[in-house]
Amino acid sequence: MEIHWITVLPDPEPITELKRLADEIAELAAHLDAATARLLERIREFDARGGWSGFPSCASWLSYRVGLGPRAAREKVRVARALATLPRIAGALAHGEVSYAKVRAITRVATPDTEERLLGFARAGTAAHVERLVQAWRQVDRQAEAREGERQHRSRGVHVYQDDDGMFVVRGRLTPETGALLRRALDAARETLYPRGRDAGTAVPRNHPAADPPSLGQQQADALALLAETALHHELDPGAPGERYQVVVHVDAAVLADAEQPGQSVLDDGPRVSAETSQRLACDASRVVMRHDAEGQIVEVGARTRTIPPALRRALQHRDRGCQFPGCSVRIGQGHHIRHWAAGGPTTLSNLALLCRRHHRAVHEEGYQVARQPDGALEFRTPHGWVLPDVPAPPAVPDDAVAALRAATVANGVRVDAQTARPSWLGECVDVGYAIDVLHPLATRPAMMFE
Ligand SMILES: [Zn+2]
Ligand SMILES: [Zn+2]
Repeated sequence: MEIHWITVLPDPEPITELKRLADEIAELAAHLDAATARLLERIREFDARGGWSGFPSCASWLSYRVGLGPRAAREKVRVARALATLPRIAGALAHGEVSYAKVRAITRVATPDTEERLLGFARAGTAAHVERLVQAWRQVDRQAEAREGERQHRSRGVHVYQDDDGMFVVRGRLTPETGALLRRALDAARETLYPRGRDAGTAVPRNHPAADPPSLGQQQADALALLAETALHHELDPGAPGERYQVVVHVDAAVLADAEQPGQSVLDDGPRVSAETSQRLACDASRVVMRHDAEGQIVEVGARTRTIPPALRRALQHRDRGCQFPGCSVRIGQGHHIRHWAAGGPTTLSNLALLCRRHHRAVHEEGYQVARQPDGALEFRTPHGWVLPDVPAPPAVPDDAVAALRAATVANGVRVDAQTARPSWLGECVDVGYAIDVLHPLATRPAMMFE
């Protein structure tokens, strides 16, 4: 029998063609990464300067304005912020030397002390290697964090002893969350005892207008006494979660009608809130009308009524279906009087708009404006008076976007080619346990973690 061996040799022409295509993909991807670095830089500046005010976060503004998915938007903001303190990683991305995916991964764990090492690993390995390393790295971090939390918890303590002169000395260490709670309680008690003067911003003790304002330390001492008294008076009952921070507002009719009017606008137990805030709280609330005589004595208390009756609220919910602020997708809202009821605005569907808590605040306290157009549509404006469109128009993109991107990278002094982002990995097995052991500053017993 005769056997014919046929060797199929690949046609050299398509191979060269494919190699060219691969290089083009690699080069274009490096250009995109370099451009992403510029994008992140601008996002960081926009975020730091609060350009997104009126939106719940910089990420939700990005989602609205640029069309990023919420998750991708949050990641972009996180990475942008992280790069502020990681100049080496930022530089490598700006030069297209490491991909955005790698940067996204290592910025989850990198600190100024470790960025060099992590960047070295990111340059050498593939994106999958980097993901694995970061996962293991976080595990070590979490263990260290748990150890630190445990250490802090053990070192908590408060010591109270009486000094020679009869004064008590309080000294202690509190865990971060207990400390934050104490600080909030002290602030609240201090505000109650020493409401801030409206103009001077200085604390003036209630009922003692002539006294010297006490120092912050003295105020805190008095606040601590109030906390102790209150706690004992309520038999140490912290109450149901919903009741703990309830507020009631007393407000003069003149203030509700016009924020510029002088008049009383205080929370039930003393702290003053701005006239704008009391207008927001009253916009959609239960209200009790109390009439005062010239001496401030209450002469008549009306029945409690809801500002927006339940039937109208249902109609409002049905019509608006959620917050009307451009780009907002929150379903649950408060009824906002476009012209405030206290200023004579009617409680009717056409004068109401559903706004979420965040955007109700934006409209009352942050200078955002809303008006109903003759055609019934709402028009929102920023504090600068710019109209906020429902869906922003996409920016103009040049016909040859790739050429424009290349030109911009080159104009930025960045040279990118098909090899720029190539990892130095040659196919050898990557031992993440070993990598953690040599790279992570806190790695103690790396062998245990990869069993
Ligand atoms: Zn309102
Ligand atoms: Zn909203």
